[in-house]
Amino acid sequence: MDAQAVDECSLSSLHKKMKTLKRFVLVGAPASGKGTQSSFLSETYGLKPLSTGALLRAEIAAGSELGLEAKKYMDAAMFVPDEVVNGIVAKWLGENKDCGCLLDGYPRTVAQAETLDANLTAMGLGVDIVVYLNVAAELIEARMLKRKACPACGETTRNGEEICPKCGGAMIVRTDDNPEAFAKRRKDYETLTVPVVEHYRAQGKVVQIDVVEEGEPEDVSARIAAAVRGYCEK
Ligand code: ADP
Repeated sequence: MDAQAVDECSLSSLHKKMKTLKRFVLVGAPASGKGTQSSFLSETYGLKPLSTGALLRAEIAAGSELGLEAKKYMDAAMFVPDEVVNGIVAKWLGENKDCGCLLDGYPRTVAQAETLDANLTAMGLGVDIVVYLNVAAELIEARMLKRKACPACGETTRNGEEICPKCGGAMIVRTDDNPEAFAKRRKDYETLTVPVVEHYRAQGKVVQIDVVEEGEPEDVSARIAAAVRGYCEK
């Protein structure tokens, strides 16, 4: 085999390996840029995204029973109880068995991770890769002050936009984005969600992206793509 043939051969096996990555989990602190990178990952790897936060906000906007229940917790900057969120995600996973999936904002506790693992195992599946966006605390605080969300489609923007760039709806400041609520969510993230990363690190599934300087979201996306590729080359 000549050098070029070897190259093409290892490239195609790399692509094959990348295609076996079907169940992604994206973990990051509030305002870490998870929403933006979720769009990038789902477009790049052909994944169907589920943001539990966006789904809960849409339920609140629709005034559903689930929304009314979730609102009590979200307005108090608390996690919605595990059993409520586990139920929503299990139903969604059952409906999306055959496609690639991206879970954004779930699992958020080790108990949720254990439920997710058990549910996927029961379907003959499993989490394939966990992308961990590890953004410096001071960047997160500065971003939070400019963040807005679209209650209709779940889009989040970072420059105080009035109109949703995705669906044209009116953007709002999230009720849980005031400094006190944000500080509480940040603390919960550190104590309850960071252990989820360790849970999957022990399984050898974590790709970690450290962000220590403010920059373009596209640069973070490029680093994620390179890290996913590196993970497949291992
Ligand atoms: P952020 O990442 O900024 O906290 P999200 O949109 O992911 O925003 O979530 C907003 C809120 O929705 C959370 O603070 C929490 O109250 C609720 N929520 C979302 N996902 C979960 C989950 N997996 N478990 C419990 N609560 C959740």
